Amino acid sequence: MYNPKSMKAEEFIDHDEVLRTLEYAEKNKNNFELINKILDKARPIRDGKQVHCCGLTHEEASVLLECDDKMILNKIYNLAEEIKEAFYGDRIVIFAPLYLSNYCVNGCIYCPYHNQNKHIPRKKLTQEEVKAEVIALQDMGHKRLAIESGEDPINNPIEYILECIKTIYSIKHKNGAIRRVNVNIAATTVENYRKLKEAGIGTYILFQETYHKESYEKLHPTGPKHNYAYHTEAMDRAMEGGIDDVGLGVLFGLERYKYEFAALLMHAEHLEAVHGVGPHTISVPRVKKADDIDPTAFDNGIDDETFAKIVALTRIAVPYTGIIISTRETETVREKLLKLGVSQVSGASRTSVGGYTQEERPKDTEQFDVSDQRTLDEVVKWLMEQGHIPSFCTACYREGRTGDRFMSLCKTGQIQNCCHPNALITLKEFLMDYASAETKSVGEKLIAKEINNVPNEKVREILKNNLKEIEMGNRDFRF
Ligand code: SAM
Repeated sequence: MYNPKSMKAEEFIDHDEVLRTLEYAEKNKNNFELINKILDKARPIRDGKQVHCCGLTHEEASVLLECDDKMILNKIYNLAEEIKEAFYGDRIVIFAPLYLSNYCVNGCIYCPYHNQNKHIPRKKLTQEEVKAEVIALQDMGHKRLAIESGEDPINNPIEYILECIKTIYSIKHKNGAIRRVNVNIAATTVENYRKLKEAGIGTYILFQETYHKESYEKLHPTGPKHNYAYHTEAMDRAMEGGIDDVGLGVLFGLERYKYEFAALLMHAEHLEAVHGVGPHTISVPRVKKADDIDPTAFDNGIDDETFAKIVALTRIAVPYTGIIISTRETETVREKLLKLGVSQVSGASRTSVGGYTQEERPKDTEQFDVSDQRTLDEVVKWLMEQGHIPSFCTACYREGRTGDRFMSLCKTGQIQNCCHPNALITLKEFLMDYASAETKSVGEKLIAKEINNVPNEKVREILKNNLKEIEMGNRDFRF
């Protein structure tokens, strides 16, 4: 029986409820009265300085997904842009993944790290190697990392992950610092989540891969990840362990996207119903070519147009949740999705273990083919030329604005007085320490223009001072 408040995976992601939703969506896909009502409900409401958005239920959002009318699609895209603008402005947060180990005991059919893959070299970073990778990342200008690891209790126990986090935070090379470490490791226990929280992680990210239980079990035939309930209930354990910010995701291509979309929103509704706060982020990876993996072997690949619609509807349905797009996608796809609601991108990523210290992009231990292979400097310049403000900000989490406190910052419209200046401060640091002359010139003009968009005069003055201080060599200011 469907129950968003239940702590049992099969009740909050109830299969029959997903099927009922899809049936309802199919039945109403040309019910334009209903569709326009749903779109109206999702529009931002301005009340003085505050902006609110109601979001959509999984049922409402599924109706919009099912509708293939061109005019409605345009309305969806326009609304997604409007919501993006209202809550995130032009800012795009940048991060990089750091692969610690590709040892893995699971049998995930789509992942090159699956333990039947005998020809992929297995590698695990030593602490010296972690240090070298972090220095390479700092030297590019990165401030935020997402650490990635296969699941292997012998080779990559929680103690290893914790030690790596400690190493990462301890390295201060030149003006560099990693100020936020997000963690993407396999589902684990409340006790281990508590340890991650104590280690000072930002978001705990775990992709569901697919919400369809039967497919999930087939796609994960062996290893601890085979356990659907344990995996699906991981975010509840993470929150019980004190982690406020959790990141959901579906690996698109494995199952039918309409099923995944409805279930993903049901998961978000469940977190809101039980913990009073929805997911901090949603990632939207698509299956990519990799060692031993042919993405065409999966029947449910989605084209770029459908993908864009999913991103836009996610933005509309969960307006306060960040959307992450990785370098799995090409520059062209990323460009389009940024407008429709994406708020975080990875840049200059290497998905191999130890990849950042190599001159050439190594292929041997890579997790998937990287489509966007540009340098961080190129990504930063490109974002600015597209009208975005690249941000390396990590202030919220360091100021304790996590979970519902972050959400209330969004809801009270204080983002322009807080996230906006923080983005400019961290962009300025990037320009001073790591940018090419060309990027610096584009960036300086952007900052000069954007200072004026800080509404509060006092904040604007502090910002101007901070920017001067950065020019004098000081670092790490924040609101
Ligand atoms: N091992 C951890 C787990 O079990 O959740 C997570 C780390 S894994 C390195 C990160 C994610 O990469 C996976 O959750 C999966 O969605 C994604 N991934 C695996 N194989 C992929 C492929 N061939 N193409 C695109 N993404 C892939």
